[in-house]
Amino acid sequence: MTRRVDALGVDGPLRVRFAPAPVGTLAFGVARTALFNWLIARRSGGRFVLRIDDAEPLADQASEAAILRDLHWLGLSWDEGPDVGGPVGPYRRSERGAIHRSHLDRLSVSGATYARDGAVVLRIPPGTTIVGDLLHGDVAFDHAALGDVALLTAAGDATYHLSTTVDDALMRIDLVLRGDEHLADAARQILLARALGFEPPRFAHTGTIVEPLREPGEHLAAAGLDDFRRAGYLPAAMIEHLALLGWSPPDGRESFTLDELAGMFSLDRVGVSTSKFDVDRLRAFNVRALRALPRERYHALLAERMQRARLLEDPIPDAAHRWIETFLDAYGGEVHTLGEALTEIVALRAEAVTVPALELERLRNRQVLFFLDAVSQYVDAQPELRGLPLADDLPAIASEFGIARKDAFEAVRMALTATHDGPPLAQLFPLLGHDRIMMRIGAVNSHILHGRGLEPIKYGPGGVPFETIQPQAPQATGNRRDGS
Ligand code: GLU
Repeated sequence: MTRRVDALGVDGPLRVRFAPAPVGTLAFGVARTALFNWLIARRSGGRFVLRIDDAEPLADQASEAAILRDLHWLGLSWDEGPDVGGPVGPYRRSERGAIHRSHLDRLSVSGATYARDGAVVLRIPPGTTIVGDLLHGDVAFDHAALGDVALLTAAGDATYHLSTTVDDALMRIDLVLRGDEHLADAARQILLARALGFEPPRFAHTGTIVEPLREPGEHLAAAGLDDFRRAGYLPAAMIEHLALLGWSPPDGRESFTLDELAGMFSLDRVGVSTSKFDVDRLRAFNVRALRALPRERYHALLAERMQRARLLEDPIPDAAHRWIETFLDAYGGEVHTLGEALTEIVALRAEAVTVPALELERLRNRQVLFFLDAVSQYVDAQPELRGLPLADDLPAIASEFGIARKDAFEAVRMALTATHDGPPLAQLFPLLGHDRIMMRIGAVNSHILHGRGLEPIKYGPGGVPFETIQPQAPQATGNRRDGS
């Protein structure tokens, strides 16, 4: 029984291919092409073919490895490809040169080609070619605009058009789905396929991906999957965002697994308008993906990152496991990425924090000084920092110094973390541990006491910030600001 892939009249099973050029890690938009092809293969019960579009033999093995790794990371596997083989290999363009040239020879014999500056070119007679695109509909291309099609370079290598057309035919590709920057290429490849006596594949060209620039020059969509993985995005979030670039689920939901997606995807819900890469959306998806992780997995991912950052030894001591658990209780549901989690961990593990001068100013009074000192003695006296009844204990200490409950909590948080928000102090205390709490409070108190005395720093016109640079001794010909 064949399963229908969609309502566009394309019945499964379909052989599709993904033909990335090995130029390093997969770019975001290219990854979407891979995903959509994979989905069509899965949905139709067909085959997903990975073909490396490497013009130069062995030019970039590292790039090919990066592509394979990125696809694996996304959870996409291929049925045929350079590493797994298959019935119509080899699956690298660079290994198919003899095949490409043998088909070109057939053409040349028939007189359909001519030589131009050492290259071999397909002569395109006047006329029009219609690309019956599954997404764009019929698009007509005037041959004069297409121009003749180069097939062999002066160096004797098959061009992209020759290799792609021959390989799509020999690999029995039913449907070519790719970005619509290749729409006009489809017309050329149809003409070439017919000249070679092949039935051209069906085509589906997806719309362009754009992104709102956050900072001038900050092109995130052009970033590779590798960058996102290293920043600590999860494949689950990436899949959701990639899928929603041009496709929309029938029920409008935004959360689905790859398997669920494979059950829902259809070409008739793919649009051709530009779609927006939105890093904020990706971040939101990633928070959800992190929260949905099984606890042991989240724990392991974090431990691995900590080890790579040399924040954790191997094997991991039990105490560190407990620490990570507490960290996950406190921050696990809040951070957007694993990278963000690591930043928090680095801050927690640091000996000291820098409390901004203006915040120190606000702490600068005797009551706060004595209160913070009392808190540090209180901490020192606790054998175990987990589960302290701080909601009762801190206000009790604060009241001895006439400090309101809210001010007390704020002062402790500021002294310990140099920020106004974060997890409850009851979680923060065990994460920081006795020594850091003593050191951080000690540092703030020392600032309050000795930093600049108890005189507030004067800001504003004539105040401290501009007075720290003394005037140079006047020179004979110096340009004195007060003079001439
Ligand atoms: N290597 C080409 C690209 O990445 C393949 C285009 C095609 O799918 O035909 O743009």
